[in-house]
Amino acid sequence: MKYEAVIGLEVHAQMLTDTKIFCGCSTKFGSEPNSQTCQVCIGMPGVLPVLNKKALEFAIRTGLATNCSISAYSRFARKNYFYPDLPKGYQISQFENPICERGYVEIIVDGAVRRIGITRIHMEEDAGKNIHEAAGNYSFVDLNRAGVPLMEIVSEPDIRGPKEAAEYMRKLRAILRYLGVCDGNMDQGSLRCDANVSVRPVGQKEYGTRAEVKNINSFRFVEKAIEYEIKRQIHVLEEGGKIVQETRLWDAERGITESMRSKEEAHDYRYFPEPDLVPIRAEQAWIDQIRASLPELPDAKRERFAAEYGLPEYDADLLTSEKTAAEWFEEAVRAGGQAKAVSNWMMGDLTRLLNEDNRNIDESPLKPAQLAAMLGLIDNNTISGKIAKTVFEEMYRTGRDAEAIVREKGLVQISDESAIEKAVDDVLAKHRNEAERFRQGEEKLLGFFVGQVMKAMKGKANPQMLNDLLKKKLS
Ligand SMILES: [Zn+2]
Repeated sequence: MKYEAVIGLEVHAQMLTDTKIFCGCSTKFGSEPNSQTCQVCIGMPGVLPVLNKKALEFAIRTGLATNCSISAYSRFARKNYFYPDLPKGYQISQFENPICERGYVEIIVDGAVRRIGITRIHMEEDAGKNIHEAAGNYSFVDLNRAGVPLMEIVSEPDIRGPKEAAEYMRKLRAILRYLGVCDGNMDQGSLRCDANVSVRPVGQKEYGTRAEVKNINSFRFVEKAIEYEIKRQIHVLEEGGKIVQETRLWDAERGITESMRSKEEAHDYRYFPEPDLVPIRAEQAWIDQIRASLPELPDAKRERFAAEYGLPEYDADLLTSEKTAAEWFEEAVRAGGQAKAVSNWMMGDLTRLLNEDNRNIDESPLKPAQLAAMLGLIDNNTISGKIAKTVFEEMYRTGRDAEAIVREKGLVQISDESAIEKAVDDVLAKHRNEAERFRQGEEKLLGFFVGQVMKAMKGKANPQMLNDLLKKKLS
């Protein structure tokens, strides 16, 4: 029997606000434990939360960018559960009236466009963090993260495989980063996801029983965890077993998912409207203002790059996956660089060097205008394409201009016809026998002459001129 997977993702994105969602504490990552806390976010009795307007704006921004409708009426809800990193004994979240609903994003997988529905986007506060001391018989609680604003972006079960899931995550991350509402750092936990996975025989309409896989915190793991879970479920069904509805944990080290709790053990959160916060009525004028401030988004930019710069789909897609890369590209083109050449250097040598140093493109020591200037030196035959590779690397290492490097290292290509002609004459005079043999038909000797002249000119002769002159003199 053939099976197909049905996957929905719940993505948690930490919002890039300076302060927490219901108090004025800083959200800065990596500070001394419990140094960014107050009575509100450590859950003292009698305090009242106040909604951070920026967090609301960021949620609306995200909703508009993912084609959602923004709710005219939205409110917070209490999600009750007990855990040491949650001092209030409840989390303020949204349940019945999320701020955004019914949107979608489009992804391209294997050349085909797929639309993935977004059920809802809601706001909530993050919990703190427990630190378990391996040696001692105790744990610490760090509440710096308690009250940090999150968005939960819930997709429809429209995803059909691990590759689509990873692509959807990549697209969401790109949109969030374009909007400036989340830094997308998966290794710091500012973007993480849970996956609802089920399988069903191809052709069947009803969904199979699903398992929720938690704790996925990298693109590689999104793909691997879902791939593992699909295989596991198919295996269970083929052995005549039944899938149980449960929560499973992805164990990255062992590359497997493991049962964490079954449906029977699932929490009953006893949601009810949060009495300490008033309902939200976002004014249409404000929503319109936010819409007008949206940047050009990845899909639109990709299409424009293909049309305006004549770039292949592949280049346009890669260059627009990060806003900073797209800006770098356009700056280089504005400085006079030919679009495809700029793209090639960016995707090739520049990406390689940045990866080696673990740098983002906006941290590149080599600036867009410098690349454009170097491309100019290739175009006007000052340097050869081969020498340019050396120059480029030197520019990246030192941040200096191509022209200075070329001058200092004497890398200028010699295109002075008389200089090349003189070298050719010298070589031919020295190798009369070989010249005669060439004229008798031993054409492979041409390479020998090219090598001799290049050697005499320290590799800097314009190769095209050298070839033409040699052929002329030898005919
Ligand atoms: Zn606080």
